[in-house]
Amino acid sequence: MGKLKTQSLHKRDSDLAQSNRQLEILSNGIFKNGELPTFAKKIKETTNHFPLRPKKLEILQINVGYMCNQVCEHCHVDAGPDRKEIMTWETMEQCLDVIRNTGAHTLDLTGGAPEMNPHFKRFVEEASKAGIKDFIVRSNLTIIRANKKYYDLPDFFKKHNVHVVSSMPHWTRGKTDKQRGEGVFDMSIKALQELNERGYGMPGSDLRLDLVYNPSGAFLPGDQASMEKDFKKALLEDFGIQFHSLFAITNLPIARFLDYLIASENYEDYMYQLVDAYNPAAVENVMCTNTISISWDGYLFDCDFNQMLELPVASKVKHIRDYNEDLLNDRNIVISQHCYGCTAGAGSSCQGTVAE
Ligand code: SF4
Ligand code: SF4
Repeated sequence: MGKLKTQSLHKRDSDLAQSNRQLEILSNGIFKNGELPTFAKKIKETTNHFPLRPKKLEILQINVGYMCNQVCEHCHVDAGPDRKEIMTWETMEQCLDVIRNTGAHTLDLTGGAPEMNPHFKRFVEEASKAGIKDFIVRSNLTIIRANKKYYDLPDFFKKHNVHVVSSMPHWTRGKTDKQRGEGVFDMSIKALQELNERGYGMPGSDLRLDLVYNPSGAFLPGDQASMEKDFKKALLEDFGIQFHSLFAITNLPIARFLDYLIASENYEDYMYQLVDAYNPAAVENVMCTNTISISWDGYLFDCDFNQMLELPVASKVKHIRDYNEDLLNDRNIVISQHCYGCTAGAGSSCQGTVAE
């Protein structure tokens, strides 16, 4: 594939690779001196959702490792080829036990590039037998074309009726490659065409193919519905590509996006934008209210963002091996200022907008 754009914060030995440094930044400065209200204060004053509590568990999100063939500029995982955190088969077996017995209807595999976990296929094969209604794999698309050993992924996904959700920051080469690395656009287009050939993303097809858009700079996403129209028109006209839905998500100020905000001197301005766009109606349906996130080493978090900030669930149950859905449902969700990214405008989750 093309030249990698950057390195992970870990590889660069950046102090932002440490989650406590990120949390310090999010808690101090404009939030400490009262210029902006903390997220806790804001939801306390404007909703009856403080403390934030989970509703019924619907989604198990499993992060099978931080290794990725890409090093996208705004990655909230700080993923890259140098990341060695990979879920073992033993932890996967513990996840499978839970998947077979959970009340959740959706299983969501993420990474890194989840396909780079050496047990990925075996895990998908086993998990797909559990009768979960919606089985999502978050594929960065380029992995399908990165190496011969991945060329069969479109057929593999189809065989197991996997729902493919993929990032696609823009329908043009320039904007996509700027955010995700040189050569990413062309490989993504090729991968999307291959998925379409298997029936993915086609009108009326049960083989779901959705795209995720996130802004390429220090600004919030536009209207999801109109962006979806623009993406559909451009990808169809230029490349004959079809897909089902576009999810527009807000970049959360953590990991490499936080690094970008600080380096470009946009951090305070971006936090003002997030707080200005705060929508109390979005609080009720933020992702953590129906999701449990499991890390590569089996620990439990309220969401993937809290996982990256190393903020574990506030529950007696900390690890997948001790999983207990009732106990987990009886917890307060751990919040900080990054949560403003989930409540800006129409709200944002890994599944796009959460409020009208
Ligand atoms: S955003 Fe996705 S594709 Fe890009 S580096 Fe992060 S995990 Fe990999
Ligand atoms: S960042 Fe996580 S904990 Fe905070 S509101 Fe969003 S989903 Fe919930």
